[in-house]
Amino acid sequence: MPLPAALRRAKIPAAVREVLVRLGSAGHRSWVVGGAVRDLLLRRPREANDFDVATPATPKEVGALFRKVVPTGIDHGTVTVVLHGEGIEVTTFRGEGAYADGRRPDSVTFHTDLEADLARRDFTMNAIAWDPLAGELRDPFGGRDDMMAEIVRAVGDPSERFGEDGLRPLRALRFAAQLGYALHPRTRAAIRGALDVVRKVSVERIADELSRLVVAPHAPEALAIARSTGLLEVVLSAMAALPPATLAHAAEVLRRAPPIAEARFAALLHPVGPEEAERILVGLRLPRRLCGEVAALLRGHACRRGGAAGLPGDPAAVRRWLSRVGPERAPVLLGLAEAEAATLPAARRKPALAEVRRLASAVRDVLQGGSPLRTDDLPLDGRAVMRVLGAGPGPHVGEALRHLLDRALEDPSMDAAALERELGAWWARRG
Ligand code: ATP
Ligand code: MG
Repeated sequence: MPLPAALRRAKIPAAVREVLVRLGSAGHRSWVVGGAVRDLLLRRPREANDFDVATPATPKEVGALFRKVVPTGIDHGTVTVVLHGEGIEVTTFRGEGAYADGRRPDSVTFHTDLEADLARRDFTMNAIAWDPLAGELRDPFGGRDDMMAEIVRAVGDPSERFGEDGLRPLRALRFAAQLGYALHPRTRAAIRGALDVVRKVSVERIADELSRLVVAPHAPEALAIARSTGLLEVVLSAMAALPPATLAHAAEVLRRAPPIAEARFAALLHPVGPEEAERILVGLRLPRRLCGEVAALLRGHACRRGGAAGLPGDPAAVRRWLSRVGPERAPVLLGLAEAEAATLPAARRKPALAEVRRLASAVRDVLQGGSPLRTDDLPLDGRAVMRVLGAGPGPHVGEALRHLLDRALEDPSMDAAALERELGAWWARRG
């Protein structure tokens, strides 16, 4: 078939081209496959290390052709060729045996035939191969037509394909969320029957797909499908248990929240509160830092469902709020507050959004003014405290610093001398 204009114009990274040329010269005609072809067809450029190459060469043959080759998934025929500082995944054509456990094929058979390799891939848009050297495209399952129609469609029989690997239903929703596509009716209908297989998938693989889903532009639509097909119950049961209106609200806040994982998870999970949200994310074995950050954002989330009532008002309250939530979290929290305000009914939306904008400008003023927000920002440190008090180290030092910070948050004009006087008075009161 004639090469689509998007691919005729696509820039193929030099390292990827070199991998293809070298494999081809050794008699192994190789292809760019998977996400890179899909994204280039959509005119979305990809980095070299995000290209997948499929080849009839065995991993051993690939290894012999390049100086640096890392056996990243050698059992599945994948090696990473490192060239010009880029890592390119090269996978031997394969077909797959049965998946008795619904997670991993029991056996992998290597093939010399490209079509067999494309047939084992998940969705038609991911089963397109491109040989940029010859300018040829292979699209045996109509992936391009489905992309034109904006449809995610399983390759072959969707129930069978989901039965082989329970991650695929979630991947279908993740791609739908990223691309704004609909699921083909039969692909969608096959999800419910695959839920028992989804339950067998490792929590890490599920969490990886979920993390990509929530930051995607069409995540709310995908979550709605997850709910109506029963998939949400399996992957985020606490969310599936919420009243539909609550979940719909959370999804609308998510849609408008900054597209980073911590903000999106905070938006999605805000109805259950910080502790439960953290418990859910830890259960998914997401990075601890992310789990803790989501909980911290929810504790600082100033805007309640009713409107902007919870937002700090006077300057001292803004400083106390910033100090409590951590100034580095302010931009994300403001983004969440704005997202929450934007979901309000028209009459309350305007004043709530104005409140958030007022807080944003007050935050900017505080941050520019350089008033102390952490004990580290005070003009006195622990050593100075001990010197002024004539006391040794101990818990009283931290207590003193926290007290001084409280005072400085009320009155940021206090200088070192004023704080020393305050410290003396505090020490005397404390006895
Ligand atoms: P992206 O990298 O943008 O997330 P991708 O399509 O490259 O998307 P990967 O997970 O990197 O997705 O997988 C690369 C390719 O491998 C896919 O395009 C698909 O052809 C195939 N593939 C990945 N996971 C599966 C799976 N669970 N079942 C079948 N084929 C899969
Ligand atoms: Mg990829």
